[in-house]
Amino acid sequence: TGTTRPLRILQHVQRSAKQGDALSVITAIDSYCSKVEWAMNVGDKKGEILDTVVLETRPRYVLELGTYCGYSTLRIARLLPPGARLITIEMNPHYAQVAKEIFQYAGLDAQVELLVGSSTVLIPQLKKKLDIEKFDLVFIDHWKVSYLPDTKLLEECGLLKAGSVLLADNVICPGAPDYLKYIRNCPRYRSQYFPAQLEYLQVEDGVEKSVFLG
Ligand code: SAM
Ligand code: MG
Repeated sequence: TGTTRPLRILQHVQRSAKQGDALSVITAIDSYCSKVEWAMNVGDKKGEILDTVVLETRPRYVLELGTYCGYSTLRIARLLPPGARLITIEMNPHYAQVAKEIFQYAGLDAQVELLVGSSTVLIPQLKKKLDIEKFDLVFIDHWKVSYLPDTKLLEECGLLKAGSVLLADNVICPGAPDYLKYIRNCPRYRSQYFPAQLEYLQVEDGVEKSVFLG
């Protein structure tokens, strides 16, 4: 048919959301994905937990692993104080192209730095490439097997500081058991689980908030 789910989400946004209004774009995506086609956005319920963490952390530097169509990126971007930087990493070029168009439609493209490539390759380049020192907040939401190795990579690359917050989505469904075991037992983190439901479904899932203690 030549169409893809991300393109159908984009089309729905263009038809039903107000240009330049990020909240109406977020609402349009939630409406489409709860009524027409499920998609792997963090969704409205866990999205509220994400919003709360962004607001209480007041981050200046934010990293997101896994952009997909840019739904969670928009949720974060709209809450950032002026001058904050939000870097989001997506390895699928088609998803990244759709996300870019969604950021433009929402009027938030100037607030977002979208990097196309694998997190494993890009994380070690961030300091030099983007002139970033440390991240205040990292939203981890790419493939679940990569949560743990990429967290260790962030540590090794010196991208975390005392007080940095990691927020990991889908720790129950699909689940990231090795990540949870590490982050809950490592004395360098203080970790807390927030129960919720998988996006757009009545299935148990939740997010794990972990503060790096240095
Ligand atoms: N955070 C998005 C949201 O809530 O709207 C959803 C992200 S989706 C669950 C996961 C995305 O991570 C997919 O688009 C996938 O292509 C991307 N991805 C998976 N592994 C990756 C990696 N190692 N590096 C970069 N992107 C990756
Ligand atoms: Mg997710």
